[in-house]
Amino acid sequence: MTGFVLFGGILFILLVTIVWAALRAGEDTGTVLVPAERRDAAIEALRDLELDYQTRKITSEEYELTRSGLERTALLARDEEEMIRMGSGPSNNCGSCGAMLGEGSSFCHLCGAMRDIGVSQVP
Ligand SMILES: [Zn+2]
Repeated sequence: MTGFVLFGGILFILLVTIVWAALRAGEDTGTVLVPAERRDAAIEALRDLELDYQTRKITSEEYELTRSGLERTALLARDEEEMIRMGSGPSNNCGSCGAMLGEGSSFCHLCGAMRDIGVSQVP
């Protein structure tokens, strides 16, 4: 199970790196937001940007540049959400077929695979 822990650690470091990069590339909000909030903020900013462009407050160059940045932020946040959802799931889902497992069940009721409970199970 060391491999699994290691994989989780790498995933976590990757996530932190992505969050850090997104925060540095993103707007100067000053606060650390969870991915869902960051995605919503980016979408909101995209709407404002669209309005600013339509009312000619900004040039098309500014519009294109800002839009691509905001879209990237929104996509990154969405991917992070996905990663968080996957990362928190394995204890409740079958590692083999993905079926929801009942609390305390040792085997999957659908495919019969042994539940990954994070303890070394050497045959
Ligand atoms: Zn299964």
